[in-house]
Amino acid sequence: MEHVDMSLIGSLYKLYLVDQQLRALTARLEGSTRHLDVQSRHAEQATQQHKEMSDELRHLQSQAALLENDVAAAELRVDHLREQMNSVRTNKEYSALLLEVNTLKADKSKIEDQAIDHLSRAEELKKEIEAVETHLAEIQRVKALAEKDLTERRAEVSDRLNELESERTQAAAQITPQALALFDRLADNFDGEAMAPVAQDDPRRMEFTCGGCFLAIPTEKINQLFRDSDLVTCTSCGRILYLEEDHRASLGTK
Ligand SMILES: [Zn+2]
Repeated sequence: MEHVDMSLIGSLYKLYLVDQQLRALTARLEGSTRHLDVQSRHAEQATQQHKEMSDELRHLQSQAALLENDVAAAELRVDHLREQMNSVRTNKEYSALLLEVNTLKADKSKIEDQAIDHLSRAEELKKEIEAVETHLAEIQRVKALAEKDLTERRAEVSDRLNELESERTQAAAQITPQALALFDRLADNFDGEAMAPVAQDDPRRMEFTCGGCFLAIPTEKINQLFRDSDLVTCTSCGRILYLEEDHRASLGTK
């Protein structure tokens, strides 16, 4: 839609269009930034999880190694006791050694069980760590894509952003400070929708609604709009009303 007339409403409409493009562009960048943030957080979490599991694995492995040392020490001690048993003279001494051997064997067997538990837990953990590594690699891949996307988007948008910003400055310069303040406030409140077209559902009836909130607009406001000089706002939502060009033409012929 071309607006060449430099009426206030025309200038505002021009500003409205530029402002919306600016907002859309900025929102797209924000979307990409948010996406990257989420991926970075996931990557951090998975890295942390991987570190904790790796620490636990090392701990289990060193515990298992200690237990295996204990087993080896118990075996040496049993060998030593058996040698002693060959040279004892009394039954009492023999029985005492035998008791110690049996106790040692029982202890050794418990320690071996513990070592096996540790090692089998370590094996499970290794598999879990592999799964985390696969997951982490996938996150890193998505994160790299998100980074690339943001970089590309920034590059592609930066020229257009500068253009639009200077267009916006130019458009804003055509508007009185009061009208501009109103426009900015409305644009912030309505997510860029500072203005709304007047809608007429049935062309045969002089009934008009606001294209922003869809509520009725009093006829006097429509008449005011045709006088063209003042800003007219919707009684319900407060958006700045404008007449779409064809609409204005068809109404104007009446
Ligand atoms: Zn409204």
